[in-house]
Amino acid sequence: MAVEVVVPILGYSNEKGKILRWLKSEGDLVKKGEPLLELETEKVVTEIESPATGILKKILIREGVEVPVLTVIAIITEKGEDLPEKYQTLKLESPLFSSLEGQKPITQTPQVSSERIQKEIYDIAILGAGPGGYVSAIRASQLGAKVLLIEKDQLGGTCLNRGCIPTKSFLSDIKILRKVKESDLFVHGDRISMNLKKMISRKNQVVETLKRGIVSLLQNQGITLVKGHGNFIDPKRIYVSSNGKGKVYQANHMVIATGSKPVSIPKMKFDGNLILSTDQALNLQRLPKEILIVGGGVIGVEFATIFHGLGSRVKLIEMLPQILSNEDEELVAELKRLMEKEGIEILTETEVLQAHSKNGKVEVEIKRKGRRGTLLGDNILVAVGRAPNTEGLNIDKIGLEMEGNFVKVNSKMETNVEGIYAIGDVIGKKMLAHAASAEGIVAVENIMGKSRELDYQKVPNCIYTFPEIASVGLKETEAKERGYEIRIGKFPFLRSGMAWAIGETEGFVKIIAEKGLGQILGVHILGDHATELIGEILLAINLEASIEDLGEVIKGHPTLSESITEAAKEWQNKSIHIASPQSSMEWGKPYPK
Ligand SMILES: Cc1cc2nc3c(=O)[nH]c(=O)nc-3n(C[C@H](O)[C@H](O)[C@H](O)COP(=O)(O)OP(=O)(O)OC[C@H]3O[C@@H](n4cnc5c(N)ncnc54)[C@H](O)[C@@H]3O)c2cc1C
Repeated sequence: MAVEVVVPILGYSNEKGKILRWLKSEGDLVKKGEPLLELETEKVVTEIESPATGILKKILIREGVEVPVLTVIAIITEKGEDLPEKYQTLKLESPLFSSLEGQKPITQTPQVSSERIQKEIYDIAILGAGPGGYVSAIRASQLGAKVLLIEKDQLGGTCLNRGCIPTKSFLSDIKILRKVKESDLFVHGDRISMNLKKMISRKNQVVETLKRGIVSLLQNQGITLVKGHGNFIDPKRIYVSSNGKGKVYQANHMVIATGSKPVSIPKMKFDGNLILSTDQALNLQRLPKEILIVGGGVIGVEFATIFHGLGSRVKLIEMLPQILSNEDEELVAELKRLMEKEGIEILTETEVLQAHSKNGKVEVEIKRKGRRGTLLGDNILVAVGRAPNTEGLNIDKIGLEMEGNFVKVNSKMETNVEGIYAIGDVIGKKMLAHAASAEGIVAVENIMGKSRELDYQKVPNCIYTFPEIASVGLKETEAKERGYEIRIGKFPFLRSGMAWAIGETEGFVKIIAEKGLGQILGVHILGDHATELIGEILLAINLEASIEDLGEVIKGHPTLSESITEAAKEWQNKSIHIASPQSSMEWGKPYPK
């Protein structure tokens, strides 16, 4: 049976290794325990022994390439055994994990000689392997397409490397810290602090593990993965360059999934020292005593939660009258109250004008309700939005229509250029990972002959604060503006047995439904695990269940999800755990109906 040769974990902090030299060639007979290759880690050069006796059937990673520990680098088979199918289809053309950070994209397509043109014509070429791109690639392959996936940096894109997953790894660690600090069950619990280095190292391990998972999924689907920066020659050809070398690839359809990057404020360029982008904040080696966070959107609010949870003093600065301006006003008001109660300072209607260093700190000039002032912090984190990655794609050359800076698409994810689709952050509809994946599936299913559109009303928002917010559909104000006659069902976690058992009684479930037929128009949850709880609602909305249906469900007890059933019942005036206004019971008298 075939045996995989992997890069071993050679020490506690060892995360990657470079293949210095293969000591055997493909086709050689190797014995178990015999040196197979030389591997260089941060500290040493080690000979790696063969894990089995057999034929070194395939070398997957070339000499000189650095890969994370546990990466499969070669396959040993028994004599006469064929290479397993999943490795036959694998076409690794360059290292999967090495970063091209700092490398300038080639914006001018060089003249290419015919031998540098890949003869193969793909059904679909996907540019960018974030949650939009890699999910599209897998779905397209499932439908029988020959798929090329091009990534200039890291598999998993922003979501896995600099977004969703790193922040959730941190928040999970911080939640433990909070619990211990808030509880009086632990001796000296209030004096415990976070080991920042280990927290970052755990985050990195999580990211690498998930990245290996993506590699394996792509391998299993036989997707060709090319590492390099892609730019269009014309709608059917793309030039991919890496380290000064390039190749032209051809495909009948293209999907642009190049994502987005943080934007800075004029006069406040990111320096990685005082003025930070969210990318830079994820690897900060020293915790700021005081941090100013500019931008009260989802990302700013999440970072405020992270830094406050770690022990920094946080000032969150937002230009608009409300933080999280896309969310239901009632939930945001309650979250703001809870954040302020914990000690996060929130300055709304405050504009940041400029920043400069002052005695090793950063001083920020602000304008608040017409008055100017200054704020001082150890760092300033700018989270005011993200710009699409379109530079260096040669978008003008192929005549792509834009909507502002974003690529314009219709509800099928088609651009104005036939055969070219765009998805994810680069189209700027809902800049969320699950939206990017859903858009990707819509795009490739359309390419493969189906007819799909995305209903954004069914895409949830998830905000990972303490407590979390999750929502889908219309806000109360929106429902009213659209002329619906509505009724609201609400249930506070303060009435939930499970919320008490786990010590998380803040927040509530709010269901907005149309008064006559009980059509669910919007659901907003503020509470622990809200981002998980919303799943039930999404299914209900997909199945067009009414609020009565939602109230019929029998839940396990004790669970937080009982609160959703209760909110739906409350809409019908039959909540079990909320006393209705008229239900003042007197002992010895029948309970009023
Ligand atoms: C701090 C933070 C936290 C977040 N948390 C969440 C969350 O909890 N939940 C959520 O849903 N969303 C979250 N997001 C948003 C989420 O990360 C993005 O919406 C999502 O990653 C977008 O996916 P995408 O595939 O469109 O783009 P990306 O993930 O940005 O991937 C695009 C990829 O394309 C590559 N690329 C770009 N140009 C080229 C080129 N010319 N050639 C080849 N490759 C190229 C890039 O290197 C990148 O890998 C968060 C974002 C941030 C910054």
